[in-house]
Amino acid sequence: MNDNKIYDTLIIGGGPAGLTASIYTSRAMLSTLVIAGQPSGGQLTLTSEVENYPGFPRGIIGPELISNFKDQAQRFGAVMVEENAVEISGSYDECFTVKTDAGNIYTGRTVILAMGASAKWLGLESEQRLRGKGVSACATCDAFFFKDKVVAIVGGGDAAMEEATYLTKFAGKVYVLVRGSQQEMKASKFMQNKAQNEPKIEFMFNTEVTEVLGQDKVQGLKVKNNLTGEEKTLNDVEGLFIAIGHKPNTDFLEGFVELGKFGYIHVMENTRTSKEGVFVAGDVSDFKYRQAVTAAGLGCMAAIDVEKFLTKKE
Ligand code: NDP
Repeated sequence: MNDNKIYDTLIIGGGPAGLTASIYTSRAMLSTLVIAGQPSGGQLTLTSEVENYPGFPRGIIGPELISNFKDQAQRFGAVMVEENAVEISGSYDECFTVKTDAGNIYTGRTVILAMGASAKWLGLESEQRLRGKGVSACATCDAFFFKDKVVAIVGGGDAAMEEATYLTKFAGKVYVLVRGSQQEMKASKFMQNKAQNEPKIEFMFNTEVTEVLGQDKVQGLKVKNNLTGEEKTLNDVEGLFIAIGHKPNTDFLEGFVELGKFGYIHVMENTRTSKEGVFVAGDVSDFKYRQAVTAAGLGCMAAIDVEKFLTKKE
């Protein structure tokens, strides 16, 4: 789709943050275009069961939740395109333009940046095949499914320590697989000690996963000691959590707005960015909470801020 219309707001990102923002802006009678990405839907589309999103007492499948968000926004008139933003320029005074990978250019008076963040993965074929089937990048989301089971988590940073400790509330045993030595661990001493004092946790240092076993679900892990070359199979593992960092999806911004800690978008006040008329919502600025419901909440806040901003300017 290519149109010459000037939208009141261009929302970049089709996950919970962007779609919630679009429900609010379109319902507030602001003309809204969502550049939702290809494939659209963000991290929720890679999740199976979502059990902690309020309003669904029996849980809901991730892609279905996204589809509900879309239907709700479209009901109020939001327009959606399944394209990826590749360039952004302009200012409030002269309008913003966003170019997409489909070669289209869209124009808006304001922008909400809601591109999310992507979990980093090990890059194994077996890991990708079993994503959502026992392999996860979010312990807060999926630990509940592993009651009394044996799980493993990869990573030696604070996130891995925090998630390993959280996993012990559910799992019977948690292997923490760290590719470096104990002395090289990135995690703070406090978080390391907390995890190390937890009886259900067993650390394996200088250890890398070489294969996730199983066809339709995780049924063990092959690991290798990168100092000795010794290979081992952890037969009892039924869940694998990857906690090796996240990357905010901000590559195309290139100096457009100020970035902050770890490359996430710097928030000036509420949902305002460093550029007038540009707002932010969801995981693209939030490296701490990273939940669908917090992203949705931030999307709602950004939409209200856009509405107030445009009203003041008129
Ligand atoms: P970090 O970058 O701090 O740590 C990433 C970890 O993953 C490192 O141990 C790294 O190993 C390992 N790793 C990276 N790639 C691979 C790979 N391919 N295979 C195996 N291991 C790999 O990321 P985090 O997400 O842990 O934390 C990000 C930031 O958020 C940090 O500043 C952290 O302090 C903060 N945070 C704070 C929390 C808190 O205070 N409550 C909770 C969570 C995060 P190596 O060291 O060998 O590179």
